[in-house]
Amino acid sequence: MAIIKTIDLVKRYDNSDVLKGITTEFESGTITTIIGPSGGGKSTFLRCLNLLENPSSGNVYFAGIDLTDRHTKLNDIRQKIGMVFQSFHLFDNLTVLGNVVIGQEKVLHRTKEEAIKKADYFLQKVGMLEFRNRSVKTLSGGQKQRVAIARTLAMEPKVILFDEPTSSLDPLMVGEVLNVIKNVVLDHSFTAIIVTHEIEFAREISDRIIYMEDGRIMLDATPKDLFQNPTHPSVKRFLSRFV
Ligand code: ADP
Repeated sequence: MAIIKTIDLVKRYDNSDVLKGITTEFESGTITTIIGPSGGGKSTFLRCLNLLENPSSGNVYFAGIDLTDRHTKLNDIRQKIGMVFQSFHLFDNLTVLGNVVIGQEKVLHRTKEEAIKKADYFLQKVGMLEFRNRSVKTLSGGQKQRVAIARTLAMEPKVILFDEPTSSLDPLMVGEVLNVIKNVVLDHSFTAIIVTHEIEFAREISDRIIYMEDGRIMLDATPKDLFQNPTHPSVKRFLSRFV
């Protein structure tokens, strides 16, 4: 079953179409990565999927519900779509545990006890349990991103959108975060949609890779098909930079 579906999705800034009519769907429980040159519309597309950006036209469906219908209660649905951002979006004034607990209490109305139990479980998953009482200010970028991932997991969403999760990290920390993402996406039942420039990582973990350029999906294939036979000339050119 498709958990997310878009029909003729268009996003326009000023007079320029950044997304030029994207129709696609994401099957429940699958891992999709979106690759392609900068400026191609990958992040904009991802942000349209949970309506962080308002599409200019077209539709986005979550489990059959049209998010672009103004009667849809977006807050209820946003709880089911988690997001991991390039720049973490943590509360610097809180501890690691505080960051992972707050959304569970305020949005999901879990009791403190239950929220702490879940937080500890997911902090353990990302290897950050021993840092639970530390202020996030004292953490490295890689550690902050691992906490941000635990926070998203603790909300137990149906879909997690990862928006270039390693792009703002020191190169030395990219590997540890990719490993954590790999473990959690392969280990869990949520649907993952990941915008990344880490081509080898995409190849390793994806059920499906989407190549976007100039506001369009140019290719949508399994990693095997994409890498063994990149027939499309611009995909071929793009991939040749990484080998
Ligand atoms: P990618 O993720 O593939 O690098 P983006 O989705 O970030 O691409 O950007 C696609 C295009 O949309 C770029 O030309 C970018 O400058 C433009 N864009 C993105 N966000 C905005 C915005 N808020 N206002 C105006 N233009 C934007």
